[in-house]
Amino acid sequence: MKKNLETLCVQAGWKPKNGEPRVLPIYQSTTFKYETSEMMARLFDLKDEGYFYTRLANPTNDAVAEKITALEGGVAGVLTSSGQAANFYAVFNICEAGDHFITSNTIYGGTFNLFGVTMKKLGIECTFVDPDWSDEQIEAAFRPNTKCFFGETISNPGGNVFDIERFAKMAHRHGVPLIVDNTFATPINCRPFEWGCDIVTHSTTKYMDGHATQVGGAIVDSGNFDWEAYADKFPGLCTPDESYHGLTYTKAFGKKAYITKVVSQLMRDLGSIPSPQNCFLLNLGLETLHLRVPRHCENAQKVAEWLEKNPKVGWVNYCGLKSNKYYELGQKYLPNGSCGVIAFGLKGTRDDAIRFMDNLDFICIVTHVADARTCVLHPASHTHRQMSDEQLLEAGVAPDLIRLSVGIENVDDIIADLEQAMEKM
Ligand SMILES: *Cc1c(COP(=O)(O)O)cnc(C)c1O
Repeated sequence: MKKNLETLCVQAGWKPKNGEPRVLPIYQSTTFKYETSEMMARLFDLKDEGYFYTRLANPTNDAVAEKITALEGGVAGVLTSSGQAANFYAVFNICEAGDHFITSNTIYGGTFNLFGVTMKKLGIECTFVDPDWSDEQIEAAFRPNTKCFFGETISNPGGNVFDIERFAKMAHRHGVPLIVDNTFATPINCRPFEWGCDIVTHSTTKYMDGHATQVGGAIVDSGNFDWEAYADKFPGLCTPDESYHGLTYTKAFGKKAYITKVVSQLMRDLGSIPSPQNCFLLNLGLETLHLRVPRHCENAQKVAEWLEKNPKVGWVNYCGLKSNKYYELGQKYLPNGSCGVIAFGLKGTRDDAIRFMDNLDFICIVTHVADARTCVLHPASHTHRQMSDEQLLEAGVAPDLIRLSVGIENVDDIIADLEQAMEKM
C-alpha cells in the first residue's frame, strides 16, 4: 500500500512480527549469534542478509534508515554517526585520490572545510562554484576526472535555495550524479529525487531529530543513476572489489550497489556508525517531523516578516519573503514552506549583533540549529570561525549575519523576546 509522508513518519521502518514489541527496540548489542560457522561465513561473503556486527549493520539502525529512505522515496539508505560522516562517505564512495568533484560554494561551514581542506589531503580536489553563475561558467569547472556535483537544498546558514533540476541536468550532461544535502528542507518540504537528484544526504541532528538529543547523518540513494553507463568513471562500483573476493557491486546489487558499497566497504573500514540508542531517539523525532516542520515554517515566516519591517534590522534573508532573491526558487522547490532558519543582519557593528544576542531571554545562543527551541548563532564568531572574511562572503555568510533558528514555541513570545533584546541594544 502506498503511504503518504505523514503515515511514513509514524509507521515506516520497524514492522513488528507477531508478539514483538510495538515500539522499535534498541538492539544495544555489538554482536549477533549464529548456530553454525557456515551461516556466519555466508554473511561475510554478502551471500545472505543478516546481522553479525553492529559496525556493519544493526536492526535498530536499519529500521530508522528504512524510514528515512521511504520519506525520501529512495531504494536504499544508511545512517552515519554525523552529518559530516554522511557527506564524506557520499562523496568518498565514488571518488578516490586523483579524482575531482564540484560543489556549490554556499554550503555549511563544516562541509566547506571537509571538501576544501581535508579531502584535498586525500588527493581529492574540489572546485567551489557560485550557483548564481551562468551554465557556461559552471560547466567550465567539469573535468574528465570529475565524479559528482554537490549542493544543499537550502544552504546553512545563508538560506540560498539550490536549483536542483538545473544542476541535476548539468551533472547528467557530464555523466556524474548530483548529491544534495537536504538537511534544512527535510523530505517534508522537498524530495530532491523528484527533481532529478541522485543521492540525498542529511544531518539528522537537525529537524529530523528536532530535539537536539543526538548527532547523526543519513545517505539515501534514489537508485536512478546508471553507474554501468559510465563504468570507466566509477571503477569502485563497476569493477571487482578485491577486498570482497572480487565482487562487483553493480552486478551483485543492482540499484542498491551504491549504498551496499558505503556499508560493506566504507563502514567496514572507517566506522562512523551511529549507536542504536541514538537511532532510537532519532526515530522518536521522525515520528513528529510532519507536525513540527510546518510549525517551524509558519513561525519563521511571521518572524521574517516582522524583522523585515523592523527599522533596527539591516537585511533579512528568508526565501519565504517576496523580496527575497530566492523567492521564486523557493516557490518551485518548497511550495509548502522552506525551514525555520532565518539569516539577518542588524544595523550597526559586529559588536551590536553580539550585544543583541546576549540580551535575549529564552532564545539561547547555542551551536545548533533546526531544533524545537528557538536559538541564535553568529557564524562569523562561532561555526565559521576558521574562515576568512573573504571566504565567509564567498560562502554567502556576511560577517554581521545572525542565524536565527525559529522553534515551535508561541510565535508572539519569540517576537517579544527579539523585540526586548533589540530595545536594550
Ligand atoms: C549541521 C549540518 C551538517 C553537519 O552535520 P553534523 O550532524 O553536525 O555532523 C551538514 N550539512 C548541513 C546542511 C548541516 O546543517
